[in-house]
Amino acid sequence: MTRRDFIKSLATGAVAFFAGLYAFGCGKKETPKEEKAAEPEMTDEQKREYVFANCICGKCPSWVECGEKGGFCLVGKSTCIKEKKGCICPDCPVTAKMGLKYGYYCTEGDAKSLMEAEAKAG
Ligand code: SF4
Ligand code: SF4
Repeated sequence: MTRRDFIKSLATGAVAFFAGLYAFGCGKKETPKEEKAAEPEMTDEQKREYVFANCICGKCPSWVECGEKGGFCLVGKSTCIKEKKGCICPDCPVTAKMGLKYGYYCTEGDAKSLMEAEAKAG
């Protein structure tokens, strides 16, 4: 077998190999799986439970211990936190889960009010 014949046979073999793969479906584009069913909307009570169960306000430098439960993004301003010493709301799972975009709810008010105020301001 000449060098040329050898290269030709290699090329033919490669074509046959990839044609075989395609026949077995390996070369086919994967058909998209069924759309993941949207998560059912949480009830207000479930949201409340989720917020209090996941709130990390207690670890925040602005936190003042006075018997509050946190969850200021939902319940609004704290009665005892008055000084802004940093806010860790962006690291809270509630921020991602609820699609929140603010912080300092303890001094600024709940997320819904902040959103409404922003919408009004244009
Ligand atoms: S986003 Fe902030 S206020 Fe709301 S639950 Fe998380 S840490 Fe607490
Ligand atoms: S709302 Fe933000 S600033 Fe206020 S206590 Fe919670 S994490 Fe800290």
